[in-house]
Amino acid sequence: MTDSIDFRRYIRSIPDFPKPGIMFRDITPLLAAPEAFRAAVKAMADPFRDQNITAIAAAEARGFIFAAPLALELNAAFIPVRKPGKLPFDTKAFHYELEYGTDTLEIHTDAFEQGDRVLLVDDLLATGGTMEACVRLAEQAHASVVGCVFAIELTFLKGREKLGDHQIFSLIDYH
Ligand code: AMP
Repeated sequence: MTDSIDFRRYIRSIPDFPKPGIMFRDITPLLAAPEAFRAAVKAMADPFRDQNITAIAAAEARGFIFAAPLALELNAAFIPVRKPGKLPFDTKAFHYELEYGTDTLEIHTDAFEQGDRVLLVDDLLATGGTMEACVRLAEQAHASVVGCVFAIELTFLKGREKLGDHQIFSLIDYH
């Protein structure tokens, strides 16, 4: 079933958004097609089914869209990683460098349990900065990061190189 779906057909490419020179890969057509969206989530789960994943973590906002159904598909906890000031309980922050300036992500201090095997999720891998921050955040919380999964990867930006030895899977890539 999954093999017969060309997921690329469900991604809309919009030039010069949000700024000149960026080709924005818009996932909303995929989200609007339940059969394709369901198949995409299953295909993203497939490489990790036998890996005892106990938690799925993702940064807001588009990471959440894939992470919640993936958590249900893999029968794992869903752990939100959020922008500062959004999580209500005690948090741990991670500050990271962007091309211009810095950014911060937060996680609840009790998000992971001892021995958790975590799969990190985002809609798209570009430079890898966002996912690298999630990897560090999870590792600082003493979780064991099993892998990272994306709907889309922009391979020419070499984001993978920031993600160490972790298993990485993306459904669609753009060269
Ligand atoms: P990065 O940290 O550079 O890997 O960027 C990844 C994040 O930025 C993801 O959460 C994406 O949602 C977003 N992003 C970066 N580049 C694009 C793009 N060309 N199209 C859509 N989203 C993008």
